[in-house]
Amino acid sequence: MPLARMIDGRATAERLRRDLADEVARLKSDHGLTPGLAVVLVGDDGASQVYVRSKGEQSKAAGMHSVTHILPADTSQTELLALVRHLNGDPAIHGILVQLPLPKGLDEKAIIQAIDPDKDVDGLHVINAGRLAQGLPCLAPCTPVGCMILLRDTLGQDLSGKRAVVIGRSALVGRPVAQLLVQANCTVTIAHSHTQDLAAVCREADILVAAAGRAQMIKADWLKPGVTVIDVGTNPIPFRDPAKAAEGKTKLVGDVDYKAAREVAYAITPVPGGVGPMTVACLLVNTVTAAKRIAGI
Ligand code: NAP
Repeated sequence: MPLARMIDGRATAERLRRDLADEVARLKSDHGLTPGLAVVLVGDDGASQVYVRSKGEQSKAAGMHSVTHILPADTSQTELLALVRHLNGDPAIHGILVQLPLPKGLDEKAIIQAIDPDKDVDGLHVINAGRLAQGLPCLAPCTPVGCMILLRDTLGQDLSGKRAVVIGRSALVGRPVAQLLVQANCTVTIAHSHTQDLAAVCREADILVAAAGRAQMIKADWLKPGVTVIDVGTNPIPFRDPAKAAEGKTKLVGDVDYKAAREVAYAITPVPGGVGPMTVACLLVNTVTAAKRIAGI
């Protein structure tokens, strides 16, 4: 059996960004509309700083209006809520993203619920989660949107009738990706930490979305031959090389044993280079969608 096709998230994200840049240029010339994204970072978490910089750079590169608000770690709930309310009322801003996690002492849920649902480009507001659950138009979370684009790129637009298994039920990944798969007429099973005989559940899948955050938990013999695997997990593990390990360096792996899974699957996303690059690209997609909806286009 030939090795599974590698689903190249970097290339797909690059194509999405090019298409978006064209659409942003058209919105400007035809409607005088420049989609605007505001990213809010509280504190000095290193990983969050990298994500926020990348979101700002990519939205500017696509021709969008982009502002980044960096607030000190001791920002109060009242100050952060005031900024969110200011952005809700700013007509140049169509998407608001508050980078998570927030420093201790800030109430994440209350901050997210304060974002105008029409500008909630992370898709985490209960109004958007509810609309998604009911199959209504909404802003869905970026990573699940990215997973669906990769699946349709790989298997074609019509996913009807496929058996899909999603491992994970978080509001950020597992639940929304399962709902998008249901909307695509898949038959969906959601597995989680209480699922019994996970290997047997996985073996039923034509499409397996792994979002447990457990390094290389899913083995090749858990997979049905010909399955398409979307590996959302990003898990840092120590290098095997003792010298690198001694320096405390880590590498990223997914939830799936990638090398062995390539012998069985039809197609699979690598980690890194699979779902990750799609997440930021889909943030830009959601911002353009929000801008068009707000402008009535
Ligand atoms: P999370 O909130 O920790 O949720 C993990 C889910 O996996 C939970 O529903 C949990 O079940 C389930 N789970 C944990 N261990 C399990 C096991 N042994 N067997 C079956 N299910 C298990 O994590 P998340 O935010 O959804 O993220 C999941 C992974 O995706 C993480 O590695 C994260 O870093 C990665 N991620 C990547 C991107 C990207 O852009 N590439 C974006 C977001 C997240 P319970 O509900 O029963 O606890």
